Amino acid sequence: MEKLNDLTKGWHPKWAMMDAVKIPFEQAKINAFSVGVSYAVTAFECIRAHRASDGSLHIFRLDDHLNRLNNTMRLMKFANPPSFEELKNGVIDTVKINAVENQGSYIRLHVYLSPCDLMLSNGPSSWICAAAPRARSPLYYHGARATISSWMRASNASVPSRIKATANYHVARLAAIEAKENGYDATILLNDKNEITECPGSNIFFVKKNKLITPNLDSNILEGITRDTIITLAKNILNLSIEERSINVNELCDFDEAFHCGTGPEIIPIDNISMNGIGEYTKLIQNTYDDMIQECYTQDWLTEIDLTVYPDSESRGEWGYIT
Ligand code: PMP
Repeated sequence: MEKLNDLTKGWHPKWAMMDAVKIPFEQAKINAFSVGVSYAVTAFECIRAHRASDGSLHIFRLDDHLNRLNNTMRLMKFANPPSFEELKNGVIDTVKINAVENQGSYIRLHVYLSPCDLMLSNGPSSWICAAAPRARSPLYYHGARATISSWMRASNASVPSRIKATANYHVARLAAIEAKENGYDATILLNDKNEITECPGSNIFFVKKNKLITPNLDSNILEGITRDTIITLAKNILNLSIEERSINVNELCDFDEAFHCGTGPEIIPIDNISMNGIGEYTKLIQNTYDDMIQECYTQDWLTEIDLTVYPDSESRGEWGYIT
C-alpha cells in the first residue's frame, strides 16, 4: 500500500480557492452537518499539473477531469452545480496561487452540497480546490506487492461505480486498510462475478506476451483518465494491442506483468505478478508516460498556465469571481 499517512502528511497546500475566493488552506472549513458531509454528497476530482522540460506549467487533461466531474454531479442529482468555466478558472487559479515554488502539483477539487438539510436536498453546492506538490511513491520504482481483497467492489446496482464521488470510497478504504494490515502494498477488488475490477484508487492493467489487458467499463470500474491515457499511448505510440474485457480472477496466474495506475500514484508495477521485478512492458509504459508529460504528446491534453497573469480584477474580482 502506498504510504498513505506519509502522503497526506506531506501534502500541504498553502492556499485554497473556495467558491472562487482565495483563502489560506487552514481556513477552508465546511459545515460539519452539510449534506456533503452527512450523506457524502460530494463529487470530486484529483488532477495533476506538470512542469515540462521547457519550464512551462500545464494542467493535464483538465477538460476531461471536469467533464467527468459534471457527469458525476449529473448522476448525483446536483441542482445548478457550478459551471464548467467557473470550475476551470478555479482550478487554474488554484495552481497559480500555489505555483511559485512548485515543480508540479497534485490538485483536489471537491464540489459538495452545502446546506444543513435532509438527504433529499440537491443544492445549493459549494466547491473547494487546493494544490500542493506530491512526491512520486517509492513503489513507482520498486513495485508493489498486491493481494486480493476480501471486500467486493459494489455492483452498478448498488452504487453508480462510474462516478467519482466520496461515497464510493467506503469499501475502497476498508480494502486498503485490510491490505496494509496484512503486509501488502496494494489490493485488487473483485466484483460479484469474481472478475477483476480495480484497486482502491486506481485502475489495473495486465500484460500477456505483447498485449495489454484491462477490465472493461462493464466490470464496475471508474473510467480512469490515466487508464485512457495509457490505452491511447499504447495504441498510437507503442503499437501494442489492447484488450478491454472482463477478466476472471483465475486468469491472474497467467499474466506476465501487471501495474495499477491513476492520477495520484501514476504507474505502479505489481511485482508479485511480474515475477522478475518490474516487467519490460510496464517500464516501457512508465517511460512513455513520462516522456509524454515532458514533451506534451498532444496539446489538446494540456492547459498551459500563464504565470504572468493572475486572476483578473474585472471579470473574476481580485481573487473571486462571484461577488
Ligand atoms: N479508480 C478509482 C476508484 C479512483 O479513485 C481513481 C483515481 N481517480 C482511478 C480509478 C484512476 O482514475 P484517474 O486515472 O482518472 O485518476
